[in-house]
Amino acid sequence: MASLGHLSLALLLFAPSAFAAVAKPPTPAGYEYTPRFQYKSKRQANPDLTRPPQTPPIFNDTVDSLKVDAPGLCNQTKAVLDKLAASVSPLNATFANTYGPILQDEHDALLKMYIQQFYASVSTDSALRDASSEVASVQSNCALEAGTRDDIFQLVEAVYNRLNGTVNGTVDAEDRYLVEKDYKGYLRNGLALEGSKRDQFKAARSRITDLQLQFDQNYSGDTSVIWLTPAELEGLPTDHINSLAKGTGENEGKVGLTFKAPDVTPALALVKNPDVRRRIYIARDTRVLQNVPLMKEAIVKRDEAARLLGYPHHAALALENKMAHDVETVQPFLNGLRDRLYERGQEEIAGMNALKKKDHEARNLTYDGNFYYWDRDYYNNIIIETEYAVDQVKVSEYFPLDRTITSMLHIFESLFSMHFVQLSAADLSALSPSGNAKEMTWHEDVIAFAVWEGDNSGFVGYLYMDLYPRDGKYSHFAEFTLQPGFLKADGKSRHYPASALVCNFPKPQGSNPAFMTHDDVVTFFHELGHGIHDLSGRSKWARLAGTSTARDFVEAPSQMLENWMWTNLTLSQLSSHYKTNETLPTELMDALISTKHVMEGLLTLRQLAFGLFDMKIHTPASHEEAEAIDLSLEYSKSMRNSTGLKGPEDQGEPENWSSGEATFGHLMGGYDAGYYGYLWSQVYSTDMFYTAFKADPMNPETGSRYRHGVLEKGGSQDEFLTLEQFLGRPPNSEAFYKELGLE
Ligand SMILES: [Zn+2]
Repeated sequence: MASLGHLSLALLLFAPSAFAAVAKPPTPAGYEYTPRFQYKSKRQANPDLTRPPQTPPIFNDTVDSLKVDAPGLCNQTKAVLDKLAASVSPLNATFANTYGPILQDEHDALLKMYIQQFYASVSTDSALRDASSEVASVQSNCALEAGTRDDIFQLVEAVYNRLNGTVNGTVDAEDRYLVEKDYKGYLRNGLALEGSKRDQFKAARSRITDLQLQFDQNYSGDTSVIWLTPAELEGLPTDHINSLAKGTGENEGKVGLTFKAPDVTPALALVKNPDVRRRIYIARDTRVLQNVPLMKEAIVKRDEAARLLGYPHHAALALENKMAHDVETVQPFLNGLRDRLYERGQEEIAGMNALKKKDHEARNLTYDGNFYYWDRDYYNNIIIETEYAVDQVKVSEYFPLDRTITSMLHIFESLFSMHFVQLSAADLSALSPSGNAKEMTWHEDVIAFAVWEGDNSGFVGYLYMDLYPRDGKYSHFAEFTLQPGFLKADGKSRHYPASALVCNFPKPQGSNPAFMTHDDVVTFFHELGHGIHDLSGRSKWARLAGTSTARDFVEAPSQMLENWMWTNLTLSQLSSHYKTNETLPTELMDALISTKHVMEGLLTLRQLAFGLFDMKIHTPASHEEAEAIDLSLEYSKSMRNSTGLKGPEDQGEPENWSSGEATFGHLMGGYDAGYYGYLWSQVYSTDMFYTAFKADPMNPETGSRYRHGVLEKGGSQDEFLTLEQFLGRPPNSEAFYKELGLE
């Protein structure tokens, strides 16, 4: 996920431009670039392929250069827009004279903008990370300023009206689509409002931005831990317990468990003492309390802004530019799925609860008949180990990191007709304008590829892999667009895209390989899918390229690829025991594949709980209702009603015990009235997989048709149209329900 996590949609729609030149410091001596990962493609090698026709992105920004360059881009955009407003009037505004300069400036800017924000997630230098985070706010303010200019809106409106219903030989379907999206974006920015309404709208919007920044800072700055004794953490591997911070003073003898995924996820799955799991669960869902009023205010302000624009509530506004389009589509989708899955969820709970009863009796623990939130991961884990006989550690021995990634790239090469060529230090030096390999990546562990067409007939773009964790680095898995692809001003040649996969696999030590769990294998294939989506983009305009699709579609291509990691064919191709090179034994492979749908009812119901909560709080019937809403209560109710799991409210705590909304970053970071999208895009991913790939997932002809028919389009046309063209009929949800066992 998080393919667009680093970039707000507003930014994509209203991007500023160009860069000021700043002297860069010389490279420190002693730089070594010798990544241990060495890729061998199955395709025809050719030394020319290490010298692509376009200089790769350069990573030589500094704290000082960012301070100058980021506002510089913004000033450049402002200058372009000023000039445009002075030289073109609504009477003579055309696509060419209006959008020509806007998009040219945007293309220049985007070559720099993503990278300026990227350091925040990957740099080892905390000052550079901070400066890069600062860039994000400079860029978003700049985008807001550019996107709320009356003079430019008047030109855009004139172009929109002129194109609407008329045929113009110089404007193609993609141009029209862009203008329509852009025009509606301006309307959503309040440009059609007048007088005091306009001021009120602007004030609400600007307050929402402040609230989001504050919420983010509180959340990412949260360093809270729960102090527990090693004995209380029994079940968690000793290595893990030893790696936790040691307490002093009143916490002497205890260790601090953080609420970050690498700590809290295994703790909830492995800690044996149910009361300790309960304390961990409650502590996790009642922290960063200063965010509770911030989200509440954001909900009220969003409602106010939406009503000023004439929408019935915020969800109606937020859904307008999504595939699902309106609340009347999303609500029945979520509620219907919940109703159809609820019984399955209760059966899963009953199965785990029977196990819990036995377990508690065997361990002389009290058993009150309830199955709680903090029981789910623990008993789920036991069921996978015992009933499905899948030893995940054993499985991971068949997925040594380097070999598995190599095999995945082979699959992508053959399926999508591509050729990955790893670049050496000498290649990077040769490609660097200053002859300096160091500035061609952001860290010496980063692996760089030149990506070519499978028959070497043309260049595709650059792909980077940053595989291992390090201090200050983004701690999950995500794909980042570094540079978008687009058609250059000459109308013939292209700027080739660049994409980075930021991962956190254990680093191989000495001659010992690192291993991937099956979960890792699925995740990496998913992220690689986002990378290929970006690399495949062939839109004219950067803002519509690759992963710049509607947000409730963007996950579909990667979700579809996850299916490959659950087939015998692919798993045989990928697996290779680190000692014997043997593929995963059939028995273990079948057992693994049979876990694909384990607890899927409950897992999906949990996603539905989040989605329903999100829709509930963004669809108040009146503004007064928005002001009166108790988010904590709605959060707890939604979790409980959707999953059927018990919580502290069943043990005498108040019903609004949780403040889970305080750490629900999605709802403050662009997924407001959008969380449903994760499930919604699965409808399309499953439809595409079943219809085109399921019978023959490695068919290169289908792969090529998919690459050029779906990935290549990016967001340059309506996603429904893209799907219809690929499937040969309108998309439907049959396969989605079938995959869930709901025929
Ligand atoms: Zn994703």
